[in-house]
Amino acid sequence: MWKRISLFLLFAILLLAGVLVFNTIRFKGPSAANDTQGISKSPETALEHFRQALRYQTISHGDSSRFDTAAFRGFQRFLRSSYPRVHSVMTVDVVREYTLIYTWRGTQADLKPVVLMAHQDVVPIEEATRTMWTVDPFGGVVKDGYIWGRGTTDDKINLISIFESAEKLLESGFVPKRTIYFVFGHDEEIGGRGAQAAAAWLKAHNVHADLVLDEGGVITQDKIPGLTKPVALLGTSEKGYLSVELRVEKAGGHSSMPDKETALDILSRALVHLREHPFEGKFTQPMTDFVNAVGPQMPFFQRMIFANTWLFESMLIGIYEKSGPGNAMVRTTMVPTIIQAGMKDNVVPMVATATVNLRLLPGDASVDVIKRLNEIVNDERVSITPLPGLVAEASEVTATTSTGYQLVAGNVLKALPGVTPSPFLMIGATDSRFMSEVSDGIVKFSPMVDPIGFHGIDERVSTESFDTSIWFFSQLIKDL
Ligand SMILES: [Zn+2]
Repeated sequence: MWKRISLFLLFAILLLAGVLVFNTIRFKGPSAANDTQGISKSPETALEHFRQALRYQTISHGDSSRFDTAAFRGFQRFLRSSYPRVHSVMTVDVVREYTLIYTWRGTQADLKPVVLMAHQDVVPIEEATRTMWTVDPFGGVVKDGYIWGRGTTDDKINLISIFESAEKLLESGFVPKRTIYFVFGHDEEIGGRGAQAAAAWLKAHNVHADLVLDEGGVITQDKIPGLTKPVALLGTSEKGYLSVELRVEKAGGHSSMPDKETALDILSRALVHLREHPFEGKFTQPMTDFVNAVGPQMPFFQRMIFANTWLFESMLIGIYEKSGPGNAMVRTTMVPTIIQAGMKDNVVPMVATATVNLRLLPGDASVDVIKRLNEIVNDERVSITPLPGLVAEASEVTATTSTGYQLVAGNVLKALPGVTPSPFLMIGATDSRFMSEVSDGIVKFSPMVDPIGFHGIDERVSTESFDTSIWFFSQLIKDL
């Protein structure tokens, strides 16, 4: 009897090992095109234009009264004078006063158009950090092989790369087959009303694009454990955004004779409950697509795990959730960001409120998430309401089989030798989230290698990355 059981067990283990190894060997990613060429260096004038672009302080302030019209007008004048061919061939429409829509007419009206996006605005420099910068953040400084300054990586590199590519292509007499639109928003960092208006404009002009390409993932050499070859992270979806207010009202009174429970106690307990009950970790479509794309590049043991997610998914989630960025990929996250109650040391506050910020995985709708929050808190005295204007659902997931994704991934394989394209889930928000009715091929990708200081101190990108970026856009536009 025991012999039969152990024989059966042995057989089962061998079978499982066989399945795991079979899946691992069969696990293949996209292969590189044969006709790849090296990236050519861009002309000095391109770098000079980039430096000039960085000197315009096109800052998006939270307080809209601080909007610097002169900076934006100056920046747009600079674009007109630096790229004369673009401005003589393309038509330019303006929405919300500063958001620019360029139309580059293609020769084949039967081909669906393409939209390339970037934004003109940058985030401010926090006053307390100004002295921590190595260089003047608006100086357009080139030093140690890097281009330094606010907006280099986010997102003037994309904007300038698109202009440089287009100007050069026009110079060589190139005419696109597809009609190409450029959309350059002016307030991406504070909600993207410009991009929203541009989406409405495109819709009104019956634009159904095969591809909308906006800023997003980058080319990373070493950020993915186990991978030694560079990966181009092509965002196929972005997480949703939700801020809710928790509010408790309870008669206060004097702190010398406190009640057993105060508004502040009730609120604190609710927050602790929330933190102790995170949303379930799971693999969404972009995560599964990511695993399928990078897995084949992994060393054997990791490849085996990635090739057999049917067995190892929960183990992978366990690994991912250990770090903040990894956790954000596999779960709807929540964190309290503001707490308010009380105004005097000897008065028990009657009202206590807290703001909790959540980032929603694709598939986790805000209404369901709020319902779940109520279940976790499980206390009628705590009201939970979404804050007006601070709700955005996660974007639709772009299929890796869509023309849009294939165009970008194909161009990565062709234009960037040795780089593996991979879908991934964007944690941050971009202007392209407004384009869901314009295209089902939305891809979020910035073709630069491991930039530094995104939204922070000493933001910079290598001059090589700038060459790569221009090269990528030129090759993409040529092949559209
Ligand atoms: Zn950006």
